[in-house]
Amino acid sequence: MTKVVHKFGGSSLSSAARYQAVANIILGQCQRGDCVVVSAAGKTTNTLVKLWQSYLQKDDNAFNDILLQVENHQNQLLTELFTSQQANTLLEKLKDELQSIAKAAADLNLHEASLLAHGEVWSARLLAHLLSTLNVSALDVDARSLFTQHQGQLLHAQNKQACIEQLSGEKIHIVTGFIASDCDGNTITLGRNGSDYSATLLANYIDAQAVSIWTDTHGVFSTDPRKVSSAIKYPKVCRAQANLLARLGNPVLHAKTLSPLKDTNIKLQVRSSYDPEAVGTEIVKQGYSKDKRFITTFEELDLIRVEGLATGEVRTLSQLIQHSIHHFSKGGEDYLLVPSNDTHAVASHLQGRGNIVESHLRGLAIVAPSHETHQLTQQVAAVLEQQDVVVRFTHSDGRYALFLTDQSIDSDVLAILHDKVVNKGRELAVIIAGLGNVGEVFVDQCQKQVEKLQANFDLKIVALVRSKEMLFCPSGINIQNWQQQWRSEAQSYQQSDLLERIGELDYEHKVVIDITASDAFSDMYPSFVAHDCHLISANKYAGTAAQAWYGKLLEQLQERNLHWRYNTSVGAGLPINFALADLQNSGDAVTRIEGVFSGTLSWLCSSFDGTKPFSDLVLEAQGMGYTEPDPREDLSGRDMQRKLLILARDLGLELDVEDIALEPLMPEHLATGDWDSFLAKRQDLDTFYQSRYEQSQSEGKALRYTGALDIDEQGQVSAKVGIAYVEAGSAIANLTPGDNIFVITSQWYESNPLVIQGPGAGKEVTAAGIHSDLYWLTQKLK
Ligand code: ADP
Ligand code: ASP
Ligand code: MG
Repeated sequence: MTKVVHKFGGSSLSSAARYQAVANIILGQCQRGDCVVVSAAGKTTNTLVKLWQSYLQKDDNAFNDILLQVENHQNQLLTELFTSQQANTLLEKLKDELQSIAKAAADLNLHEASLLAHGEVWSARLLAHLLSTLNVSALDVDARSLFTQHQGQLLHAQNKQACIEQLSGEKIHIVTGFIASDCDGNTITLGRNGSDYSATLLANYIDAQAVSIWTDTHGVFSTDPRKVSSAIKYPKVCRAQANLLARLGNPVLHAKTLSPLKDTNIKLQVRSSYDPEAVGTEIVKQGYSKDKRFITTFEELDLIRVEGLATGEVRTLSQLIQHSIHHFSKGGEDYLLVPSNDTHAVASHLQGRGNIVESHLRGLAIVAPSHETHQLTQQVAAVLEQQDVVVRFTHSDGRYALFLTDQSIDSDVLAILHDKVVNKGRELAVIIAGLGNVGEVFVDQCQKQVEKLQANFDLKIVALVRSKEMLFCPSGINIQNWQQQWRSEAQSYQQSDLLERIGELDYEHKVVIDITASDAFSDMYPSFVAHDCHLISANKYAGTAAQAWYGKLLEQLQERNLHWRYNTSVGAGLPINFALADLQNSGDAVTRIEGVFSGTLSWLCSSFDGTKPFSDLVLEAQGMGYTEPDPREDLSGRDMQRKLLILARDLGLELDVEDIALEPLMPEHLATGDWDSFLAKRQDLDTFYQSRYEQSQSEGKALRYTGALDIDEQGQVSAKVGIAYVEAGSAIANLTPGDNIFVITSQWYESNPLVIQGPGAGKEVTAAGIHSDLYWLTQKLK
């Protein structure tokens, strides 16, 4: 059975209305066997801490005032939530407890942790009672009977047993967060914000599948969303970063929250109790999400340098002050960041080994992917200087950087910093498939191009994919030495692995760039689109697939507002698809496209002058690598036929490849048979070509192999790829051997057509053409 532990923090229980809302969430979301962990209502623990301090200071007036405040707050909750009859027993119990607190104080017998524990006990009791009035069978459980600790260590086996015994059955158990007991039955706490930790511990003990931490924000943000309205909510945050944030004192999760989840598959989510249907933040295992950027702030801390810090001492000190302490080493020295209020207790414990270096510090920490920290640290320092914030101490360990200051970082400065270093642009994850000739050049060109695009785009190459192996790195591959990373980290994969990893990528935008020579890869396009990927294709497979498949893909892209670019599939880097789109978008109507879209056929026809047989030229071209391994693949005209289909579809025409008539540049009988049999009959090719050549000469024209598409006034389409005799002096007749040419006739380019001409193949121009598609995409997404 799926068991979930739901934890509601004080911020979710700050008023009677909030308790109602929480009861509704439990009604709607809890199943049998689930557990609920609660914190004290609102700021109750803060008030109880003040009560404790007034007790220590022997300030009776303050003590009585604060105790009255506590009583009024609890009374108010009870009277607002229940009829007087329903509230009766709870009010009685409360009265007794408050009286015992007052008596213990008078007898100088008050105990800090037991005092603080009341907050959680009241909260659990109230919520269980509220659920019972809603006919939900619920039971409050005091976690002191579940969690026992001895000399700072939780007794896991014993605690697990206690949980199994006490939390079984049909009831929904409402467990107090934050508190535990020692072996002598004394109350201890797990530290401020410790209920998060209670929840994950409990989840571990009862073998739960998931923990939901319900709080008052929609999840984990790039910075405190209450201070900076443009803070970004992250759908996924890696455990290591969440842990680091917690250790830096960020309140959204307690420092130890993640430790019980280590080596388990328990899912952890942070969700908003104010908006229970909304998707929160999932805290995922390392490698399942890229590292993000965060800024977290500090208030009132002292920096203590410690001599001879012993292992486990930080934990003991944290326990002593009920607060997690951030510890780091710099220049061989150990430092602690301690809340100023607690410095005295820490210093006394250290007995002369602790030197207060700076006191009453504020400041911030930036947490970022390690390869970005250095640069961001410099940017933060510059912004703080501009804002006249004096930095007294800095420290960085590669994953974060601390800036300790003597002024508070106000919301305005935080917002400026956030805009500068976190929210600087949109995110795009790039997946590159195919690392052949063109792919390798494309990746080499990436370094410079990515730097350029990064000015207003946070663009990361997250995956390099070959047919059998892939390198997947959600935080971004260091493209400068990708070969090295490939050697150490590339892994073999199945298509489903690739799709799963892409599905997990939490980027605002993703694009799959297909530079493969693989039909099977394009079969995955619909799945990529289902995972919200834009597409860039450098091959023709998808663009020339059956109209039904192709049409569905276009629909799917449109539904999801995704883009598909395939500029290099026709004419390599030549901007033919751009031109067609541009003409149509500006209201023109294309009536004819004619051209030579094959570098090989262009070279053969333009070079032929009758001085040597056509088959000699074919073999020469083959020798120079201008042709496919078997040149008959070029002579078949199929490649041009597919390109013409792509252009036709660019005009919005619904055609299939068979709708384009095809006349090969060789006699039919030469198309089949092995290469040797072709060589034996090559004279047939020569006669075939020669007779057509002579015909063209007699007409005063030039023989070219062209594709042509016509749309007549009635919208009738005719398309053909084959031999054409073109006017001498025309652009096609004058074509430089090897170049591609596209002649576009339209309403506006009627008597004098638009001509695009240039190299239509080559790895550099093709790779550059793919970059042009990528650039187009980033402009479109801006
Ligand atoms: P709970 O009472 O539910 O335990 P806390 O008050 O301890 O809640 O923590 C939630 C608060 O954390 C939010 O109200 C928000 O102001 C603050 N906070 C600070 N930094 C962040 C952040 N990066 N993401 C989300 N919340 C943050
Ligand atoms: N009530 C405790 C606190 O305020 C524990 C918690 O909220 O997690 O620190
Ligand atoms: Mg909290």
